Amino acid sequence: MTARKKEKLRIIPLGGLQEIGKNMTVFECGDDIIIIDCGMAFPDSEMLGVDIVIPDFEYLRDRADKIRGLLVTHAHEDHIGAIPYLLQEFSVPVYASRLTLGFIENKLREHDVKGDLREIGAGDYVRLGNFTIEVLHTTHSVADALAFCIDTPVGRIFHTGDFKIDLTPIDGQRLDFSRLSQIGDDGVLLLMADSTNAGKRGHSLSESSVGVSLGNIFKATSGRIIIASFSSNVHRVQKIMDLAAENGRKIAVCGRSMENMVRIASDLGYMTIPTDSLIDIKHIKQYNDDQILIITTGSQGETMSALSRMAQGEHKQVKIKSSDTIVLSSSPVPGNEKTVSNIVNTLMEKGAKVIYNEIADVHASGHANQEELKLMQALLRPKYFMPVHGEVRHLQYHAELARQMGVPESNIIIASNGRVVEAGPSEKVKLTSETVSWGAVMVDGLGIGDVGSVVLNERKNLSEAGLVVVTVVYDKSIGEIIAGPELHTRGFIYVQEYGTILKDATGRVTKALLNASDKEYHDIEALRKICRDVLRNYFYEKLNRNPVILPVVIEI
Ligand SMILES: [Zn+2]
Ligand SMILES: [Zn+2]
Repeated sequence: MTARKKEKLRIIPLGGLQEIGKNMTVFECGDDIIIIDCGMAFPDSEMLGVDIVIPDFEYLRDRADKIRGLLVTHAHEDHIGAIPYLLQEFSVPVYASRLTLGFIENKLREHDVKGDLREIGAGDYVRLGNFTIEVLHTTHSVADALAFCIDTPVGRIFHTGDFKIDLTPIDGQRLDFSRLSQIGDDGVLLLMADSTNAGKRGHSLSESSVGVSLGNIFKATSGRIIIASFSSNVHRVQKIMDLAAENGRKIAVCGRSMENMVRIASDLGYMTIPTDSLIDIKHIKQYNDDQILIITTGSQGETMSALSRMAQGEHKQVKIKSSDTIVLSSSPVPGNEKTVSNIVNTLMEKGAKVIYNEIADVHASGHANQEELKLMQALLRPKYFMPVHGEVRHLQYHAELARQMGVPESNIIIASNGRVVEAGPSEKVKLTSETVSWGAVMVDGLGIGDVGSVVLNERKNLSEAGLVVVTVVYDKSIGEIIAGPELHTRGFIYVQEYGTILKDATGRVTKALLNASDKEYHDIEALRKICRDVLRNYFYEKLNRNPVILPVVIEI
């Protein structure tokens, strides 16, 4: 026991700090590593064509044999989205609640990846090398979410996962306040807590109040009701289905992730579909408008989603009518505000009534507001505090709350991705100056990490200034151009208007090629360079533009 006391604990956030997304934290003690969560993030607008972003696993590559397990707090994409990529590389047992495992299993199947999945639930203790993890139930916007209390040789670390304090959750399962308080009594060295809503005053809305608001909408509406929600919010979707059944409406489910969720959650018993209520979206026309509820994906305005296709008039089965009431039972994820307001506008243009969270209580956040965060601090009374899951401002707001709750300034650790936090020995936690490899690995189609800054720059140039292809055919034996140069452009200039510029440019390339030296004539790369340089300079001089120039030199 005394020997183990000397061990240090290293906490390494690989994602989720100074950002909302790709949450992943490594805990390393002696020969053991455990990981909490392995999520994805959505690309920002600069990452053209990138599908998703995952954390950099580099730090784990030399230490693969130390990894004892991945513990997953809940089924949101920013916590589970990168698991298939992790398991492609590392064989790690995955510990999560039953519903979360259901979502992970589905994800692994889609990626054709096998996993060693192990179910855990509230009250369980998991022993992984130097770590003993107590599993606690927590309330969040997805059912079956967990928090972890991790006993380590240097002390106890509490990780809240994403949480809110909902006293009237739909499934009736509150936080275990007495256990939290006991844990606090026993002493918590470090608390790591969700900061997403640390800037919001008061107490977040209970999920039950959303049910009441939605119920009022059902009562007041005679046309079709179309509700868009996060598919992962099992309780919300359940409530919507129950309301539909109570109000004599059939339920049509729309969008792949919503269909998947309904299947997984009802298979596992987390959801009960009201009897004889579910209909195929193809059959909605067989019913009157006041007998229809459509529940759909697309609450974030995602371009390919069902709701977006409805708004654009491109959905096969659902054409929006002026008598429709559309409810966005969600709030825009930071960064999505514009796309969401676009979709609201498009739907309103079609005459439909649109209800969203700014005008009615049709959404409750899954994250704790200030008073809830303070309550968590009060229950656990940590010696050190490290805000997690948030952008810089959220982390700062949360740090301020901890100060108000009496955590000394010197004991508040505002870390960033890749920065190593060290705990122990003798009950000390500090932010070190050591950083490990971290970053955003971009996944584009089947390629993982092959799209780097060079490719992104090229895509940016393409999207901003277009493409010019110049084709030249030359006969190597006589050293003469026999066809071309010929210019083709895409997204560069409107040829009808700027035709003379292209003609002029062609002339310049011809001239430069004629003036090329003998040596250059025998070097295909040199000819390409001439074409590229001449055009680049010319277009910049004439139009102040930098298109991507692609010289195609064919020798015969
Ligand atoms: Zn979450
Ligand atoms: Zn999250």
